[in-house]
Amino acid sequence: MKKERRDFIKQAGFVGAAVVTGGAAVVTSGILAPTTANASSGHEVTDSDQPRLGMVIDMTKCKEECNDCSDICHSVHNVPDHGNPKDEIKWIWKNEYERVFTDKSHQYVSQDLKQKPFLTMCNHCDDPPCVKVCPTNATFKRNDGIVQMDFHRCIGCRFCMAGCPYGSRSFNWIEPRPAIKEIDSSFPTRERGVVEKCNFCAELIDKGEKPACVTTCKEGALIFGDLNDPNSEIRKVLETTKTIQRKPGLGTKPSVFYVV
Ligand code: SF4
Repeated sequence: MKKERRDFIKQAGFVGAAVVTGGAAVVTSGILAPTTANASSGHEVTDSDQPRLGMVIDMTKCKEECNDCSDICHSVHNVPDHGNPKDEIKWIWKNEYERVFTDKSHQYVSQDLKQKPFLTMCNHCDDPPCVKVCPTNATFKRNDGIVQMDFHRCIGCRFCMAGCPYGSRSFNWIEPRPAIKEIDSSFPTRERGVVEKCNFCAELIDKGEKPACVTTCKEGALIFGDLNDPNSEIRKVLETTKTIQRKPGLGTKPSVFYVV
């Protein structure tokens, strides 16, 4: 870890200690005991001029053997591959149904569904607990709803990892750069002691493009757009198709929806 970061962490020690208490309070009120308004469904429609970017993952179209979306995502974002689960860094990955939808009844779920690997990523929650607990504003919510990270501000306290109820964040326990196959100079690399996660390709959104996973998916399984625009494709899909979110009862209002 660089000297400046160590110094900053020391200086932030008191702030961090204070926020541990505050963070726990946030976690208590925001996740474990959500307010009635937040806990209702997570599907409240709040059309506004301000966009809220979101994604539908259509698992009926997603091919089990295909990893194109995670391959391109990890490649353009310089995600290291350490080759072992212990040090794994992941932005978008596949997981079992029972691990993704932990609040659903699994007793009589079809074997097909149980065995199907589900895509998982940051949900870019509309009410993100990770943002509330970050003591340095390294994690923040943009005006378009993307939950973004400023890697330079991350002090590695991992409060955000404790705050995220979806396990969407990874921590660089070891130096990531040697484990990047080919560094893409258009996106920053990280260093040891920094948290990272999916950013909905904010760098492409800012250029008027869609996330790399969406444009790469040949099956059309990923639909991306403005949840606050009633005329957007994603809204039309949501209004005509049954979708589910991960742990909607927590009141985080995930912006990622699943067709199962
Ligand atoms: Fe934060 Fe986790 Fe929600 Fe992503 S899924 S916005 S990391 S709480």
